[in-house]
Parts: sequence; C-alpha cells; structure tokens
Amino acid sequence: MQTEVKTNSMTVAIADLAKEFELAPGQVTGVLDELGVAHDQSSVDVDDDTMAIVREGLTELIGSKEMSMARGRTPRDLASALGVSPPEVLKKLMSMGGATLTTTLKDEVTEKLVSSFGYAITWADSAKPKKAVVTARPEAKKSSGAQHRPPVVTIMGHVDHGKTSLLDYIRKANVAGKEHGGITQHIGAYQVELPEGRITFLDTPGHAAFTAMRARGAQVTDIAILVVAADDGIMPQTKEAISHAKNAGVPIIVAVNKIDRPDANPDKVIQQLPEFDIIPEQYGGQVIVCPVSAITGEGVPHLLEMILLQAGVMELTADPKGELKGTVIEAKLEKGRGPVATILVQEGTLHIGDALVVGSTFGRIKAMNDYLGEKLKDAGPSTPVEILGLSDVPAAGDVIEFEPDERSARAIADTRKEKVRTDSLSTADRGITLQELRARLSEGTTKDLNLIIKADVHGSVEAVRGMLEKIANEEVTVKIIYSAVGQITENDVLLASASNAIVVGFNVKPEGGAKKEAEKRKVEIRTYNIIYELIEDIEKAVKGMLEPKFEEQYLGTIEIRVRFQLSRKGIVAGCYVSDGKATRGCLCRVMRGNDQVFQGKISSLKHLKDDVKEVTVGMECGITFEGWEAFQEGDVINAYEMVLVNE
Ligand code: GDP
Repeated sequence: MQTEVKTNSMTVAIADLAKEFELAPGQVTGVLDELGVAHDQSSVDVDDDTMAIVREGLTELIGSKEMSMARGRTPRDLASALGVSPPEVLKKLMSMGGATLTTTLKDEVTEKLVSSFGYAITWADSAKPKKAVVTARPEAKKSSGAQHRPPVVTIMGHVDHGKTSLLDYIRKANVAGKEHGGITQHIGAYQVELPEGRITFLDTPGHAAFTAMRARGAQVTDIAILVVAADDGIMPQTKEAISHAKNAGVPIIVAVNKIDRPDANPDKVIQQLPEFDIIPEQYGGQVIVCPVSAITGEGVPHLLEMILLQAGVMELTADPKGELKGTVIEAKLEKGRGPVATILVQEGTLHIGDALVVGSTFGRIKAMNDYLGEKLKDAGPSTPVEILGLSDVPAAGDVIEFEPDERSARAIADTRKEKVRTDSLSTADRGITLQELRARLSEGTTKDLNLIIKADVHGSVEAVRGMLEKIANEEVTVKIIYSAVGQITENDVLLASASNAIVVGFNVKPEGGAKKEAEKRKVEIRTYNIIYELIEDIEKAVKGMLEPKFEEQYLGTIEIRVRFQLSRKGIVAGCYVSDGKATRGCLCRVMRGNDQVFQGKISSLKHLKDDVKEVTVGMECGITFEGWEAFQEGDVINAYEMVLVNE
C-alpha cells in the first residue's frame, strides 16, 4: 500500500463537459484540439492542472460567465459569490486536494475552483475589495418534500482512545443547556445544535452496536467518527472500526484525540492512515482529519464543523411528511415505566398517540421525550426520542412502522412473533455457508465471496490474505472484508452476518460468544491448521461459483442416404454412421455442401425396427429431427453434445 501525493489524473467524459458548459460535444473536442490536449471520441485523460486549462478554454468559448472578485478569499466567500452551498465548493475543493472552508485560497486555486463552476475570474483590485459580481446561475433543483436533515454520527475506535470522553465533552459543551445543570437523561442518542446546523450523535460507542444494527438490516449511521489516540496510534480495534465503517459504506472522519498529552504525536497517526486505505486531505485524499482533545476541548468545534461539512457534501435529506421510518437504537425495561425504547426517526414524523409495530412488538406512544428529558408531541427526521407505551421490549435495530390503529399493530406483531418462533431466524439475520454460496452462484444471485480472516500471527494473516486474493477470477470476486490477528470474536461474526461473509480462521478458534452468535445467525466459521487445506476449500467454493461453462464436443458424422415417408411419424432420414456416433436427443448440425441447413436436436433414433439410444460407426439408422423435415439425400449430419467444462 503506497501513498499517492501526486496531482490527480482523471478521466473525464466529453459528454459530461458538454453538459456542464451547455455546449455540443463537438465544441468541447474543438477546444481540446485547440489546446493540444489528446483525447478520444468519448473521454479525455487529464491531470488537475490541464483540466483547469481546459475549463478556462471552455469558459472562454461560452464567454458570458465572468465574475470579479478580490484576492485572498475563503471557500466560504466563494460559495456565496457563486451562489452555491459551501459544501458544493468543498466537494470540488476536495477533488482538487482539499482544504477547509475557512482557509484563504491561493489565486490559482480560486481560479480553478471558479472555472470548475463554469466562470472565468477577473481579479478585482485587492486594495479595495469589491463584492463579487456573478452572472445568474440556474437554481439547483430540489426534490419535493425532502428537506435537509441532520447527519447521524457514530463514534468508533480502539478502547481507551477517548470515545466516551469525546461524546461527553460534546454533550456538555453543546447540549446540556446551563438550565439542565450539565446532567442529561441518558437515552442512547443526543443532538447538538450549532449555528450551522444540528448533529445527531448515537451515544452507543462500540462496533458491536453498529454492526449488530447493520446485521439486522438497519443502517442508521451517516458518518463514522474514528477516534485514534495521538499517543497510541492505530490499534486493532481501530482497524476493526475502519473495516466496519468501510463495509457499511459510511464515510469516516478521523478525530486524532488526546493532542493535549505531552507524548501526543498526531502527525504519526496521520502518516499511518494511508496504510489502511484512509487517505487524509493532507495527502490529497478525501478523509477529513481533526486533531482534538476530549479533555481540553481543543479542536472539537472544528470537528463539529467538519461533520456538518461532510454532511453537506452528502446532501442528506428526508421527508418529514413522508412514510414513517425509524429504528430502535436501544431498549430496556424500566421499573415503573415499562418498556422504554430509544428510537431514531429517519423519515416522516412520529406523533404522540401513534400506533406502531416495532419488530415483533407493538404499542401506542403514550409519552415521548427528547434527549434532555423534555416532553415532545412529535419528532421529525434524525431526531432521537425515547418512547413509552410499547407492549414489550424491542431489540436494537428493530424497525418501527406506523399502523392506523393499535389492533392492527397487535395483529402484525403477533404474526411476526409467531414467525420468529417458527423459523427462529429471519433471513435478514443470517450469514452464509459455503454450500449456500454455491447454490446462490448457480442461481446467479451472488458473485462475491466475502471473507473475514483471523489468524494467530501477523505473518499468517498476510500469507492467507495474499493467497486468497489470488483466487479471484473474472467471474467471482474474493473480497476480504476484514483481516486481523486474534481469536474469532462475536464482532467478527456480526460483521460476517451483516455482510454475508464467511469467517476463516487459521490457527485460531472462535471464542464462546462467537460460536453462539454464529449458530444463531447461521454464519459459517471455518478453521484450519494447514494453509493448503484452507486455500483448497476456498478455491472449491469459488469454482462452484463459476458460471457453468459448456463446450461443444464432437460425437460423430452421419450421412443421409434416403428420405422415408412413414405413415404416422412423418419423414425419416435413412442414414449411415460414417464416423463416431450419435445419441438420441443429441444436438446436430446438418450440412448441405458448405451450407448449414439445420441446427437442432435429433429427436428419434432407430436401428432396424427398434428405437435405440445410440448408433455407432458403421451402423445404418433412421433419424428424425426436432421440428425439421426438409433434409435431402446427401446431407451430412454432424452430431455433438454440450459438456460442462468447469473442473
Ligand atoms: P473509550 O474507551 O474510547 O470510551 O475511552 P474513554 O473516553 O473512556 O477514555 C479513556 C481514558 O483516556 C480516560 O482516562 C480519559 O480520561 C482519557 N482521555 C480521553 N480523551 C482524552 C484526551 O483528549 N486527553 C487526555 N489527556 N486524556 C484523554
């Protein structure tokens, strides 16, 4: 794994450029030719600098879009001058190597940025900065009903790296309003309110919670904050968190914590990151890295700003008037209150009095509190709430659904309970076994073999990984979702379950909890002590996954000597087998000279008066073809069959 710190080279479609500048593709290629930039009909390969020149050229061609602005502006200024949202500018900036919203931009970066929005810049006199003048830009389209919603954030990382401290600091500094005395009711999630927007934090640090929810098919997290202690660096659970987040497709923001400590070395952490495929902005990548201290609070406001920025780039929306969608974050039975569930509303709005089905339980919302313990009447998207009134305690990850009345909610919940009893496991909850994998392959429903590798020492992890990665072929991708040193844990099983993977252990065993979880979730754990056996098994699985391949195999040559009219059976070809053989039902091509006059099946085969299965060289026989009778004397039949060639 190396780090690329070079200018990015990219392939840009001519059609995209044409669309962006509202030009004909021919006009775009014209500009490319004029600039001497090599391209083909459909795309052009360029690095950032060339791209900026190309954009300038195209801007010049369309001519009308010009803006004037003073030097030394920030991306935020640019956004308002261009009439676009700051995240839009940031997104472009990230693709150019990255910066934060408040850094002063160099002239050439500003030019590039502005031209990427289709404008040419004229520098205003920097001594007396003018307000930027921009020609009109079409309004961005907004989908109906959908509104921006706060991002939902989970904090992950190695034990003792400061996840809890960071969550606590953020809560105290931002939500625990003075009137609440800094102590808030714990409901498993909270929201912070900043001038730029709100953020919902899931207060359930730990990868198990994250993956357990995902294993149940619920994805609630939009952004993962990876906490890495600056005095300790990347540790096993950090790696695990990276795999979990990546696998869920959740963007990561790295918080390098404990920078207040004298032995802190944040730069070292940043240098370590690319090794794990996390390319920080500093290295031209897209991952935001924020040095923080959960004790002094240094850097935390910046971290929050970056979370909102990342969220802006993701354009998270939800429709408060849409169909209700929500997920249970955690739930428990409380004395005197009954079942209490923390729910994250994802779509629509939850109202007091609503009848709900929650997993296999149901109820009517009797009371609803926010994270401060304040009573709420309704709760919209990204709002975490605590609800009372369920008949039973649901499980984390259960999905909530709205029902018109309590009776129908009960009916649905009862059916589900019954179903849970009978099949004891829902399919969403299950992993996969090698055998199932083969079956799915033959159905064509899967093409990935996902693996989690655990081994006793680093060397064997690498060895197994290396060998398994080589097994892939064009049709099946062997995807190693996660590999690490150590016993097979419950977390590994959860991750496997969430991602349809098989856990492969080399010289390690599953821990007790992992075994139980694997049985419950039907995750296959395979352990080996001999590397050769491990590889062979996976190889077999991959082969089972291949599309069956058939090849034509020659059977024989038969001459048609005469046409017989049989009263009932129609017309039969009287033949002689001059080479090899033919079988009933085999395929054939009938040739007349060099022309093929038929391709299809031999439907019946007779020798003397008897139906036979096979005729061989030197025999005379009667043949009929499936759906074809137009043969002639002298036609030649080439008989063949299709055989499976996958070894
Ligand atoms: P978690 O296991 O990741 O939740 O870690 P904790 O939040 O429990 O923190 C582990 C230890 O590190 C505690 O003793 C914290 O006080 C300490 N700690 C956490 N963040 C910082 C920090 O920014 N600076 C310093 N000096 N100590 C920290």
